[in-house]
Amino acid sequence: MDSVITVEGLVKSYGSFTALHGLDLQVARGEVHGFLGPNGAGKSTTIRVLLGLLRADAGRVEVLGGDPWHDVVELHRRLAYVPGDVSLWPALTGGEAIDLLGNLRGGLDETRRAHLIERFELDTTKRGRQYSKGNKQKVALVAALCSDVELLILDEPTSGLDPLMEMVFQEEIEAEKARGRSVLLSSHILSEAEALADRVSIIRDGVVVETGTLDQLRHRTRTQVRATLERAPHTVEELALLEDAHLDGTHVSGAVEADRVGEAMALLGRYGITSLTVSPPSLEDLFLRHYGEGNSVAGDAGHVGRHAKPEA
Ligand code: ADP
Repeated sequence: MDSVITVEGLVKSYGSFTALHGLDLQVARGEVHGFLGPNGAGKSTTIRVLLGLLRADAGRVEVLGGDPWHDVVELHRRLAYVPGDVSLWPALTGGEAIDLLGNLRGGLDETRRAHLIERFELDTTKRGRQYSKGNKQKVALVAALCSDVELLILDEPTSGLDPLMEMVFQEEIEAEKARGRSVLLSSHILSEAEALADRVSIIRDGVVVETGTLDQLRHRTRTQVRATLERAPHTVEELALLEDAHLDGTHVSGAVEADRVGEAMALLGRYGITSLTVSPPSLEDLFLRHYGEGNSVAGDAGHVGRHAKPEA
């Protein structure tokens, strides 16, 4: 794989608290990679290591072929980063901030700059201190998307955008992908990742617990089946192929492993099918499998979202 990001066995502690426990992550060139997990899972810590802002305690980290800790200046000309909580220079206008950010990177594309300002309905004449959270985020997004860079690292980039702007964001990320850019998109908005990501990695308690295309991940989870039959089975045991099968007269529901859907259809077909719904698991189902109650992979330290971030 031609990778823009390779992370192997990354360990990072804050004092005695270990935030990342040997994290692996690979982002292929040209893909949008969803980096998913709830608050406190370790997404931002990973991203700060990728940006050369934090030094890894152990493990291998390569970004665009370099070591982010040593090649930080060179790297920041080739990537653009948008955090969830953007700070701007208080006295610079949005337009000046976009130009400054673009020039710190590899330069910017003026046509694309104008297009993005219009799409995001951004008033570029206001000063940094006058913008709302959402508008600061738009300034940072426009600057990132019109910069001449190979890699976009976006950490919860739409947390302040309204649904209309979220749609604009999704369309513009598709456009970036079509231009061959690679994107690491950290998010807790699953529909955003479902719409955009070629592959996703799910992080839990500082390790990646699942990685692959949505289809691959779906394959590891059960498909829900609901049917109305012409003739009722005598007992639910006749439908043993279905897990958690429920029979109510001629109505049947249950779940089946992805590679046994065909067998399940053949079984139901014997009773005559009058209506049928087959639902592959959504990203939310996959996610909840890792985060559902009592499903801890890292022991008691692993309750999601309970670690309070100390005040800076
Ligand atoms: P996410 O981005 O997924 O919300 P973070 O990487 O911000 O997760 O945090 C991972 C864990 O590290 C959390 O338990 C958080 O409280 C802890 N953490 C983050 N930053 C610091 C810090 N500067 N000092 C101590 N602990 C931190």
